[in-house]
Order: sequence, then structure tokens, then C-alpha cells
Amino acid sequence: MKFHIMTLFPEMVEQGLRTSIIGRAEQKGLLSIQAVNIRDYAFNKHQSVDDYPYGGGAGMLMQAEPVYQCYKAVCQETKEGLEGKKPRLVYLSPQGRTFNQNIAEEFAQEEELILLCGHYEGIDERVLEEIVTDYVSIGDYVLTGGELAAMVMVDAIARLVPGVLHNDVSAEFESFQDHLLEYPQYSRPEIWHDKQVPPILLSGHHANIEKWRREQSIIRTARNRPDLLEKAELTEKEQKFLEE
Ligand code: SAM
Repeated sequence: MKFHIMTLFPEMVEQGLRTSIIGRAEQKGLLSIQAVNIRDYAFNKHQSVDDYPYGGGAGMLMQAEPVYQCYKAVCQETKEGLEGKKPRLVYLSPQGRTFNQNIAEEFAQEEELILLCGHYEGIDERVLEEIVTDYVSIGDYVLTGGELAAMVMVDAIARLVPGVLHNDVSAEFESFQDHLLEYPQYSRPEIWHDKQVPPILLSGHHANIEKWRREQSIIRTARNRPDLLEKAELTEKEQKFLEE
């Protein structure tokens, strides 16, 4: 999968993503992460890309033309752009739909994705109207720029690309699958700070372990994220267990 990230701070995005699992996946050729500097497409000698907003107000706005020229250059690097089609482009914005695991799974189906990071007070609306296909927020708070948000998206999507993780993630239970949070996990040693690993996990009895893990997931979700549990499919027995 190919990610093209349009940003004023390419080094931030590249350094942040080219480490650990995602960095190794890129080295193996499973992913490609290309950060493109919007400033390289500035049309004045000072390479400035921002100006005052019409109508007044605090802060500066990224101008339409450098963003558009950068977009046109990135399009030439994408399969769809080369075929004259409009590639999928996500503008990271606090005004977008809130990112979650379902959206990560949806984007993981794409071969290529362009992510656009805003800065200052955002970007001139006119260029957004022309190039953006999706608006995505990473939560109800305002960041200084879209770079951290783009990194969050790339990380969550990239780990779903086959081969990026050692095991097949789709076959493993993880938080948000079936609208439940993951059960607690333990590693060696068996006793740490007087705390014992739950004996069931040492029993070797797989069916009982699975049952225990499912119960723990339900308890945890009820405690931390009751909103998720409303959509979870629980058996009658599990409903009763929860009510007790
Ligand atoms: N004035 C804008 C507003 O009120 O909607 C906020 C602009 S914010 C200071 C600057 C940039 O940070 C945005 O253009 C966007 O790319 C990014 N950003 C800020 N908060 C974000 C969030 N919660 N999710 C995704 N991107 C965000």
C-alpha cells in the first residue's frame, strides 16, 4: 500500500513513521510512505504558503494554489491520477468523521491513499472543495497541524496490511472486534510484585481459556466502554453474567 502525505513538515512524518514495525514493513516493500513538502510548490520567492483570511479573524490560512500544485504533482505518482481519475484524498480535519477501527479497515482496502495535513488555521476552502474526497478527524480536540493525525491514520491502517505484523491480525482477537475490548494479557514471570498470572492461563485448557478471555473482554468493555457493548452480540448466558 502507498501513502502520499502532503505536509509542511515532511521530516516530522517520515521520522515518526520510519521506526519499528511500520519502518520495517517499508523496508520489506510492503508499504511505501512518501511525504511531500507543500512549500516546494509555493509560487513566491519567499516560499510562503499562508496568508490572512478574508473577513478578518485570528491566524493565517494555507493558500489554495501551493496545495493544488502539490496535489497535481502527487497525482502523477498515483495510479488513478495517471489514468485521469480522482484519487482518494483524506484531509485531516477536526471537522471530519471520527477515525476508528472500522474506518481503518475501510482504508486498508485501498492500494493508494493521499493524506493532506493542514496547519495554521487550516486551508482555503476552495481547494478543499476540488481535491478532498474524505474528511477525517482523530478526535474532538484541535491540534496545531494534521501531521500527528496523519501518522495515527497511517499507523492504524498500515498494521492491517497483510504481512506487516508477524501474525495474521484478522485471525487474532483485538480491541473493537465484535464491539468488545481485548481481554487482559500476561507474560513471564508467573509472579511479579506478588501478583500471580490467572491460573487458568497456565492450565493448557484452550476451551476454558477462550471462555475466560471472552468474559474478561465483556467485563472490561462494560467497565471502560459501555457504549460499545450496546452493539455487541452477547448470548443470554453472557447477558446474565453481566447483570450479576
Ligand atoms: N480552524 C480549524 C477549525 O477550527 O476547524 C482548525 C485548524 S487546526 C489549528 C490546524 C490543522 O490541524 C487542521 O487544518 C488539520 O489539518 C489539523 N487538525 C487539527 N485538529 C485535528 C483533529 N482533531 N483531527 C485531524 N486533524 C486535525
